[in-house]
Amino acid sequence: MTREQIVENKIQILKDFLNKKGFKSTKQRNAIIEIFATLENQLNVEEIYKKVKRKVPNIGFATVYRTIKLLEKNGFAIRSHLGDGFSRFEPEFNQKNRLLFQCTECHTHHPVEDDELTYLFQTILEKKGIKFFAIKGEIKGMCEFCQKPLN
Ligand SMILES: [Zn+2]
Repeated sequence: MTREQIVENKIQILKDFLNKKGFKSTKQRNAIIEIFATLENQLNVEEIYKKVKRKVPNIGFATVYRTIKLLEKNGFAIRSHLGDGFSRFEPEFNQKNRLLFQCTECHTHHPVEDDELTYLFQTILEKKGIKFFAIKGEIKGMCEFCQKPLN
């Protein structure tokens, strides 16, 4: 699949979901979905709203907010709190592992991917009879930069 097809698939998944939930397909809602499905970083609702507004100038903040909340409630949007008072969202389409490291000093964050960690979790959980699907969560710590002494 090309990148464009992957994006198209994601948009279609969200459209189908909203249709099933009884939401009519409107130009506004489609614009939200198209922007949201292609997000590559985490944005708060205000930032998503600004992006959508560029495509559909007459859209209301409440429409964007409600749509994102609906997606979150149904597992299509992952919310992160990064200590600055904003909730940020990003699209979620599969069960892949996702750990986010966040520095407690400067609040920088980046995803952590570690096969060893996955294997470790899997081993521990399977011993307890748990079928393992995915790891999702936050890791708190101090980044390399913040650990350096000031001088
Ligand atoms: Zn830091």
